[in-house]
Amino acid sequence: MPVPDGLDDNGFPISSAATSSFADDFYRSGIDWSSLRAAPAPSEDSGPKENSGGLLVQRSLYQAWGIQKPARREEAGVEVGVGGGAGASSASPATSGSWPGRKRRRGGEVEAGAERKPLACPFYKKIPGTPFTVDAFRYGAVEGSRAYFLSHFHHDHYGGLTKKWCHGPIYCTDLTARLVKMCLSVNSEYICPMELDKEYLIEGVAVTLLEANHCPGAAVIHFRLGDGKTYLHTGDFRASKSMQLHPLLQRGHINLLYLDTTYCNPKYKFPPKADVIDFVVRTAQRYLLKEPKTLIVVGAYSIGKENVYLAISQALEVPIYTDASRRRILHSFGWSNLSKRICSCNQSSSLHVLPLSSVRHEVCK
Ligand SMILES: [Zn+2]
Repeated sequence: MPVPDGLDDNGFPISSAATSSFADDFYRSGIDWSSLRAAPAPSEDSGPKENSGGLLVQRSLYQAWGIQKPARREEAGVEVGVGGGAGASSASPATSGSWPGRKRRRGGEVEAGAERKPLACPFYKKIPGTPFTVDAFRYGAVEGSRAYFLSHFHHDHYGGLTKKWCHGPIYCTDLTARLVKMCLSVNSEYICPMELDKEYLIEGVAVTLLEANHCPGAAVIHFRLGDGKTYLHTGDFRASKSMQLHPLLQRGHINLLYLDTTYCNPKYKFPPKADVIDFVVRTAQRYLLKEPKTLIVVGAYSIGKENVYLAISQALEVPIYTDASRRRILHSFGWSNLSKRICSCNQSSSLHVLPLSSVRHEVCK
């Protein structure tokens, strides 16, 4: 089938904005696929073996979704962005190629004053061979979709979801479900909470949510289709040893991996979360020893960083001050060790949690 209207050759929605956006810059800068390596084959003997894993191959995305690669459209008023390199549809190993330059229509998609067309759902938000989409709420009713999965409650993933939602059931973790209901007032008849590590049969597909090690409620989604194929959609996640050792990922082959990452490059090497939290706590303690009146400020999105400020609160034995809207969200988690440390008086704590946008020196003085 041809690429649907409103999408560029790479399957990204064609933007009408004339200015460069983060997404434009990100896709133009490309991805270093050489950083992905296949795991070594398991060996029978117990002796050490050289890592014999080869490079992972980026398979043809168009092939996976059954989309026919479109002809080039330079003649039709399409300009090619800076960059380029190995194509996303290349079936041969891509060693250090870039994502192809994103293409934009000259002059924008919609004339000023004209009625705005709804965005088309990009192909990579659909799970092939299923009536499922993941994190696709900006596109109204997606053709062929009968179940809408939400990986976690961050705006760049739930964007478009409002109390007017009526396009189908939304599957997510129990904690995310509570936030969708509480913060967005989505009708609960559309919300389908799922337990982590429990297999559900949805539209004939076995679906299991795994802990994503990202924000509270975030899940990696494992799909096992009727024909035995398995797909893994990571959403936002932080890889860890325990994730790698999950029985579902240990015993099975993954046919298709949806890797949602900003950091697919070896230059980004993050320490384990526990080490980062330990470093933050020790730094806070050191400053307080030098200057006992130091105010410790943690900037956070509406959710995320809870484990960081909870650890500071426990180590320094101070309550956590934050505003009423975040207090409501944090209490909804049902984490008693967090709830009991939250206070509503900013004078009674030297640990304040603020929206990330407020963490500026002028505000914190
Ligand atoms: Zn996120």
